[in-house]
Amino acid sequence: MTSMRVAQVTTPGGKFEIVERELPQPGPGHVRIAIEACGVCHTDAAFVHNAFPGVEFPLVTGHEVAGRIDALGEGVTGWRTGDRVAVGWFGGQCGHCRPCREGDFINCANLRVPGWAYPGGYAEAMVAPEQALARIPDELPAAEAAPLGCAGVTTFHALRQSTARPGDLVAVLGLGGLGHLGVQYAAKLGFETVAIARGADKADLAHRLGARHYIDSTTTEVSDALQNLGGAKVVLGTAANADAMSATVDGLAHRGELIVLGAVPEPMSISPLALISGSRTVHGHPSGTAQDIQDTMAFTALSGIRPMIEPVPLEEVNQAFERMLSGAARFRMVLTMDR
Ligand SMILES: [Zn+2]
Ligand SMILES: [Zn+2]
Repeated sequence: MTSMRVAQVTTPGGKFEIVERELPQPGPGHVRIAIEACGVCHTDAAFVHNAFPGVEFPLVTGHEVAGRIDALGEGVTGWRTGDRVAVGWFGGQCGHCRPCREGDFINCANLRVPGWAYPGGYAEAMVAPEQALARIPDELPAAEAAPLGCAGVTTFHALRQSTARPGDLVAVLGLGGLGHLGVQYAAKLGFETVAIARGADKADLAHRLGARHYIDSTTTEVSDALQNLGGAKVVLGTAANADAMSATVDGLAHRGELIVLGAVPEPMSISPLALISGSRTVHGHPSGTAQDIQDTMAFTALSGIRPMIEPVPLEEVNQAFERMLSGAARFRMVLTMDR
């Protein structure tokens, strides 16, 4: 094979078109991945609309990649052709900035996100640095592994790094691409899990995912409901809604933390008094490194968690993207490459 099909966007805000490109060759320290699946993340829309600096067009986006290594660049050690690998939001670190020198690679000032820093996963193949590779366990099919590179690691790694301990009350705000995974992880990590979403109709799903409690934010004051349960040690804010995230702070227990994952530009409105009384904290959480992604996939396989996905062939990328943007996806659109 000397060529590959990619879904590219030629101009900012444009539609995807399927075109043939020459198959890229991996340079030193890089591998080529024959892609089997790529999740469609909401952040991809920001790249398509040129909302981040340095996006180049024509653009091939996608940072929830799963496939097999099919070519090794010079000097790659520890990986072989045929290995099943994932690449997520963490697409490699620069190695020389201050966070990198401190070993804090996810906060690299020059973080190389696939589909932004280099061509991403809406394609039949891509080249990635070996630092970005995470091994996929045998139990996980590619289409279910793919979303774990962003949605999965973001929720799992946030929870395992939090101050919550087994038995603590942990609330997950939002039941979408991230939230439906966050509820499953929280339950399997041994937390008394609360799901918060809009509408009574989501209660059944929340309980099936492992939530012990469900709060319908359209009819219930969320912070009161959390306090009635004893106060949340952690709220995982996955809803892309600044007001909804802000409204949970009064529901935190003493020394409780709101972890902000919903990536929106709007300001959050939180009273300093609400933070001071009870020593509460609010902080963001970007994602995790390749090892964190590998840990996420291992825990997912170990605990029987599965992302709920809607697989769609690469050719139908425009329909998949529209469905993701409309909020209708249940819960992650995943492009599949039939090759
Ligand atoms: Zn993402
Ligand atoms: Zn760096």
